[in-house]
Amino acid sequence: MEHRIETKCVQGGYQPGNGEPRQIPIVQSTTFKYASSSEMGKLFDLEASGYFYSRLQNPTCDAVAAKICEMEGGSAAMLTSSGQAANFFAVFNIAGCGDHVVASSTIYGGTFNLFSVTMKKMGIDFTFVSPHCTDEELEAAFRPNTKAVFGETIANPALIVLDIERFAKAAHAHGVPLIIDNTFATPINCRPFEWGADIVTHSTTKYMDGHGSAVGGCIVDSGKFDWTAHAEKFPGLCTPDDSYHGITYTERFGLEGAYITKATAQLMRDFGCTQSPQSAFLLNLGLESLHVRMPRHCENALKVASFLRNHEKIAWVSYASHPEDEQYELARKYLPNGSCGVVSFGVKGGRAAAEKFMGRLKIAAIETHVADARTCCLHPASATHRQMNDEELVAAGVGPDLVRYSCGLESADDLIADIAQALDF
Ligand SMILES: *Cc1c(COP(=O)(O)O)cnc(C)c1O
Repeated sequence: MEHRIETKCVQGGYQPGNGEPRQIPIVQSTTFKYASSSEMGKLFDLEASGYFYSRLQNPTCDAVAAKICEMEGGSAAMLTSSGQAANFFAVFNIAGCGDHVVASSTIYGGTFNLFSVTMKKMGIDFTFVSPHCTDEELEAAFRPNTKAVFGETIANPALIVLDIERFAKAAHAHGVPLIIDNTFATPINCRPFEWGADIVTHSTTKYMDGHGSAVGGCIVDSGKFDWTAHAEKFPGLCTPDDSYHGITYTERFGLEGAYITKATAQLMRDFGCTQSPQSAFLLNLGLESLHVRMPRHCENALKVASFLRNHEKIAWVSYASHPEDEQYELARKYLPNGSCGVVSFGVKGGRAAAEKFMGRLKIAAIETHVADARTCCLHPASATHRQMNDEELVAAGVGPDLVRYSCGLESADDLIADIAQALDF
């Protein structure tokens, strides 16, 4: 029986047998014992499944990945050391030197840097398109060597909601998958596979952990993208892997397993950006209450956004789930139960006023973080996005006056009172 998402949050991924621990055990072991070398050899050849070294796979991490996989409605998933690692693996698993990727311009600053600087050095070209671009502009971004399209359900920190269906259609028309970073929405508020996305990534550091305890990431595959129908574009999945004795991932593991098996067997083996079992255990504690916390984050954010919209010192407010927000229709379609706990806004008086306001807040702490039980705020132009020039800032939807305010789980009345006193200067 397919369970509802609330039940998946609490019980997914791990079903203990008779007399086994009720809670997911932390398997704090780098390695695993085998009776014979030939048995172990089968694992190395991917002929048998099993654990041999925690850089590649660990039972605690696998159980938590399986839970997130169930929540997203995917076919396979893996944890990574961070959201950055998840987005890097998600793209690098199918694109290499000489390839090209289309990405939304409003993506998270860290991902923008990863793509436009570091992965560019590896020979992968990115074309950034506005999430509001016309169909013609989107079409024009593709090249013969394009291997994927990338976007965020709700962009951090611009809070632009992506028209996932439109981007999925464009990607599929060109025979490539749509990769969606679903960090801000979480599968509680949006499941991108239901709208045609093929691969979903997460910074689990955010709402999934939810308590600011452990950095982590996750990649989930829908198992629906037909790599073999475009085999010439994806030789890494559709032709023999010499580093695994000529295994062809799509043949051996099917469409459901090929992508994640390759990312685990090849990329995790070689790069080792693995999540620790301790972190995975903490992440699982967060996941157990995600479906209870998300509605409260959203409720607080809607109250804060409503208050800010009516405040004379506030220049503008972006919160897609507010009925008067220009993105409300998109949010209603993709995020009917609420978007996220983050509200972006501008304080009249620009950069200086934003910094002054933030310095006066007493409950909200200034942090390079979002999506925490404790309210926090950030001035992206002087922190996460300070690598960007003004043009890139505007393209990313991050004006110099933008304050990113992440509503925690405190009383909304207290948050509003704190904001009111901080604006009184
Ligand atoms: C934070 C974040 C990341 C990066 O995740 P880390 O866990 O910090 O590496 C990627 N995408 C989005 C949308 C994020 O908010």
